[in-house]
Amino acid sequence: MKFIDEYRDAAVARRLLAEISSAIHGNWVLMEICGGQTHTIMRYGLDELLPHGEKGSIELVHGPGCPVCVTPLETIDKALELAARPEVILVSYGDMLRVPGSATDLFTVKARGGDVRIVYSPTEALKIARQNPDRKVVFLAVGFETTAPANAMAVWQARQERLGNFSVLVSHVLVPPAIRALLTSPDCRVNGFIAPGHVCTVMGYGEYEQLVRDFRIPIVVGGFEPVDLLEATLMLVRQLEKGEAKAENQYVRSVHYQGNLPAQRIIHEVFEIADQKWRGIGTIPASGLRVREEYGDYDASRLFGLASITVEEPAECISALVLQGLKKPTDCAAFGMRCTPHNPLGAPMVSSEGACAAYYNYRRHQKEVTADK
Ligand code: SF4
Repeated sequence: MKFIDEYRDAAVARRLLAEISSAIHGNWVLMEICGGQTHTIMRYGLDELLPHGEKGSIELVHGPGCPVCVTPLETIDKALELAARPEVILVSYGDMLRVPGSATDLFTVKARGGDVRIVYSPTEALKIARQNPDRKVVFLAVGFETTAPANAMAVWQARQERLGNFSVLVSHVLVPPAIRALLTSPDCRVNGFIAPGHVCTVMGYGEYEQLVRDFRIPIVVGGFEPVDLLEATLMLVRQLEKGEAKAENQYVRSVHYQGNLPAQRIIHEVFEIADQKWRGIGTIPASGLRVREEYGDYDASRLFGLASITVEEPAECISALVLQGLKKPTDCAAFGMRCTPHNPLGAPMVSSEGACAAYYNYRRHQKEVTADK
């Protein structure tokens, strides 16, 4: 399959691994900020294939790149509150339904009679609104810069049609401010970043150059297949070994420097940059998107007067540390025992893109071996 098979070619992967081994002399910690990349790393065991010797080593740590995982508990609780209202149809992507709020999840509300519907795009949510003029349709719009254009377009389209029964409950997060926050932390030990290819397809990678200058840290935009990630790793290692810090692009088949300008225009037409809470991490300045005042009639938080709430995470869940790359999922005492994809305690175990779910799906035996020792 074009653009899949050649990026899963074992011979190419082996050659890249040999080049990494020959280039490396230092001990480097690299972070990817994309749940899809985390999933590929675990699925193909890339972290185990990379050098771990006296000549040099690479440790891969996983950043806050899973959109479901970083959606704040408060947003989930607001969605739960709306879903329980008889006049509301709460519409969402399927993986949001199992994310635990502070007391329950959307699946449970649905089972108790709440009108919660799964869609594959915000366009479907608009269709539901048109078909149900006597109900209020709220689309739970979460994600990174990648999903923001389609969500913004839905709001823009609703206004064009004067669709008065459609609104969005928004929790959009932006990658560059999150990288800045991670790099500002005194605990940060990351030497280089693999930036998310899908986000950069929309936004380009010019905005990463300021981070490179401010922190003298290399950033390489990477794709999602094993060969993509190994090539991005090699590009980072080459920079690190030469003492360089540049923003580079490995994912050239999709990402251009400026990104998708029409997509960026619709984002900025409907949304504006705002401080944003990230689940497990806290509020990061200017790291999210909120609905502009001009589109306030389509903002569920304003329409329904949803109060600002603060909710505590389950004490046992160390997702805050996992999402910052400070701990691995297997460091969590609940991993694979009290917390599984069927019974998740925290968001990183719910989403298939979450680091805990990726470790569970591909590494569970390792935890069991460790636990038995
Ligand atoms: S394994 Fe479960 S409880 Fe532990 S950090 Fe991950 S989501 Fe939280």
